[in-house]
Amino acid sequence: MATVWVLGDQLNTGIGALRSADKTRDTVLMIESHAKISSRPWHRQRLHFYLSSMRHFADDLRADGWTVDYRAAETMSSGLRTHVAEHSPSEIVATEPNSVTARDLLMRLGVRLVESDQFLTTVGDFSAWAATRKQLRMEDFYRRQRVRLGYLMDGDEPVGGQWNFDHENRKPPPKKGPWPWPAPPVTTPDEIDTAVVASLPDSCTGAAPHGTWATSRTEALGRLAHFVDHVLPLFGPHEDAMLSHNWHLAHSMLSPYLNNGLLLPREVCDAVQAAHDEGRVPIASAEGFIRQVIGWREYVRGLYWLWMPGYERENSLGARRPLPPLFGDTSLTHMACVASAVGAVHDRAWAHHIERLMVMGNLALVAGIDPAAMTNWMWESFVDGAEWVMVPNVVGMALHADGGKMATKPYAAGGAYIDRMSDHCKGCRYDRKKRTGDDACPFTTLYWDFLLRHDERFVRNPRMSTQVRAAQKLADTDAVRRRAAEVLQMLDSGRL
Ligand code: SF4
Repeated sequence: MATVWVLGDQLNTGIGALRSADKTRDTVLMIESHAKISSRPWHRQRLHFYLSSMRHFADDLRADGWTVDYRAAETMSSGLRTHVAEHSPSEIVATEPNSVTARDLLMRLGVRLVESDQFLTTVGDFSAWAATRKQLRMEDFYRRQRVRLGYLMDGDEPVGGQWNFDHENRKPPPKKGPWPWPAPPVTTPDEIDTAVVASLPDSCTGAAPHGTWATSRTEALGRLAHFVDHVLPLFGPHEDAMLSHNWHLAHSMLSPYLNNGLLLPREVCDAVQAAHDEGRVPIASAEGFIRQVIGWREYVRGLYWLWMPGYERENSLGARRPLPPLFGDTSLTHMACVASAVGAVHDRAWAHHIERLMVMGNLALVAGIDPAAMTNWMWESFVDGAEWVMVPNVVGMALHADGGKMATKPYAAGGAYIDRMSDHCKGCRYDRKKRTGDDACPFTTLYWDFLLRHDERFVRNPRMSTQVRAAQKLADTDAVRRRAAEVLQMLDSGRL
């Protein structure tokens, strides 16, 4: 009799060690580690989502005839030791973990690891692809994935005659309202959900769970069906837009379930492909979504394993500023866009990709916030946060801390971009057009200051040189630098 150890982000019977286990003979082990739970100031909804999903999954397994040893322990190691002492399994087997730390721990503990098929690309496949490339371009990887996996393909050619409809999916908010943004489903908490809420430690941050996130496989499948039927037809054109009165727009919000295993990427993509084949969704919507799942998500995870460990410590721009207090309290800022994005994280442990990259990430980039501090905050604060997601997205994509290994240019922007893509600037105390003066938009000031601070580095970058030269030609560079120093002091003291 073997023990199959299932970690909290591997909650699916269709993957790895659990798929090849025998429920009439083997025992499933699941451990809630007190050390892990109390290791960070997790957002309440994030921690609740993981713990409640684990407990629901254990119940589903039992109902399906599995023997499950679900235990709370001081650490993972002590939980395993007690399990072994009580059950004397012939061996311990697990699916390859999704983090370097967990993989190293399980290997130290003598657990036999089964290759993970929780993703569509194995770590070995990605490394083999990377070894053949001079540049690891996402678009090249994505096209290879389309051909290899067969999504939205017509023979050897992409359906619709082009690989990528991204240019159709960057529209600003719709000018005329009201836009029919589909309301997200809400889950009514059951006994398990309620018990988990009561057990959350005081160290947690953010608002208490209120049903935004499903915590079982059945509910996650319901979220997928809702997305395909009601959201996907609108998905795409305005996915980069930000609105002060609508937090979800037409985003899928399926990433938490993909990241903890309640949903698998193949079933999600199959559902989208089927909706497209039935003529229910336009190609730009289907392609935009499938690109995120088989392209971006797999690419980020591949880079994580390719460059870890060590990648999480990269800091090529020498950014040392601690996390500003406004990331924990939106009353400390008058910046309408930042208050909205950080407020969304507080309320639901979620904000969409442009709020992550171009508001919170952009602020961290132009203000010189320490990449590790920013990575940790995002990992702790987002319901879909995991190390493999956050390290490449923060260190590589948002903060350019890897010196351009992942993104060929830093995603720095002033108030003009945020004004174009949102309705925040109209109601903001700051003026997005101004770079100096008491009412200058902090993004605009810090954007120009960022270009001036790093001009030597980025003037040689073909995607940045025009902006850097424009900064060097400004007539008021001294005033910009003075205002930037004031802004940074206000940011540090929580009065911005
Ligand atoms: Fe954000 Fe600047 Fe616009 Fe205010 S003016 S909402 S700080 S971009």
